[in-house]
Amino acid sequence: MSLNLLGLNRGQFEALCADMGEKPFRARQMMRWMHQAGVSEFDLMTDVSKGFREQIGASATIAAPAVLRDTTAPDGTRKWLFDVGTGNAIEAVYIPEGDIDDESVAEGVPVRRYRGTLCVSSQAGCALECSFCATGRQGFNRNLGTAEIIGQLWHASRSLSADLGVERPITNVVMMGMGEPLANFDNVVAAMQLMLDDHAYGISRRRLTLSTSGLVPAIDRLRDACPVALAVSLHAPNDSLRDQLVPINRKYPIRELLAACLRYIEKAPRDFVTFEYVLLAGVNDSVALARELVKTVKPVPCKINLIPFNPFPDSGYARSAAPAVAAFRDVLLQAGLTATVRKTRGDTIDAACGQLAGKVRDKTRRVLRRMEENRA
Ligand code: SAH
Ligand code: SF4
Repeated sequence: MSLNLLGLNRGQFEALCADMGEKPFRARQMMRWMHQAGVSEFDLMTDVSKGFREQIGASATIAAPAVLRDTTAPDGTRKWLFDVGTGNAIEAVYIPEGDIDDESVAEGVPVRRYRGTLCVSSQAGCALECSFCATGRQGFNRNLGTAEIIGQLWHASRSLSADLGVERPITNVVMMGMGEPLANFDNVVAAMQLMLDDHAYGISRRRLTLSTSGLVPAIDRLRDACPVALAVSLHAPNDSLRDQLVPINRKYPIRELLAACLRYIEKAPRDFVTFEYVLLAGVNDSVALARELVKTVKPVPCKINLIPFNPFPDSGYARSAAPAVAAFRDVLLQAGLTATVRKTRGDTIDAACGQLAGKVRDKTRRVLRRMEENRA
């Protein structure tokens, strides 16, 4: 298999150029062609010498995962289903936030500025089995490679630029698609380094958010390797409830998780952590639990993002009713916390949080186990 250049971060690409007897600036030049101009053919890289283009083209490719489906919802949310081979598919979702600043003027010419977020997947499936998550329900198949992770952004950027006619349609990236990004640490960090690189996507650390269910040692590693904005899927104020919803809590309980958050903030690009809290009717959405949550998160500078549960077939959960959501939020606000309710986007195309399922090969083990549980 030939080397896929999409998966190389700057250091790796520069090392490759050095091996081939070229100067490091070639790597930066080619990165701009690939990641900024969206070019996948070496022949189009006109300022790179023909000799080098032929040399590198003989042993390397530039290839994003193939698109199986491309769907746009009435609210503008767009979802791509990518083929990652051997029967597996993953999804990326674009959430447009529209023109942010029509007024800004550069050199007398009004500039159309745009804001939009891409939600990127890190694994085919997920091993962590959170009880309310469609990805967790389907089980784990494999980690995505760096080229498969960055390939989602590469493909989305070039399609959106062409279709919307804006230069940088993706201003924010959230590692919140399928999978647990910290369970695929090295590939996710390499992909995030490309997202941050000025010769690639140039996204600021504050606009790149990684969401984790709480892999404590990996949170510490991320702090040192690539500190970006951090979101932590909390979902419950105490261990007995969180053990049920987010099973990894049995290994890394809330106290240890919060301590890791505090350590992370010391190096983070933002001075707070975002706690995500999916509201499940009758399970974790009572006013009493909201009060307990206030006490639990108190030691950590944070914002709380309440996520209305997004249903999927046989989930066994229901979305909290609007008054329950408002009552829960009000308890947090009255205690002086910052709390927002996430707008549900893209649910008509199953692109909302926790609905991403792609397609993962060999669900047999899971299905059999569930059949046994039902029988018992
Ligand atoms: N594995 C990481 C990131 C992917 S999930 C994590 O768990 O944080 C992204 C967010 O969607 C998480 O906060 C997750 O808990 C939430 N989520 C999962 N299933 C959901 C559902 N059915 N409805 C709403 N949010 C959900
Ligand atoms: Fe995995 Fe996150 Fe889903 Fe939990 S919520 S199963 S960690 S993708």
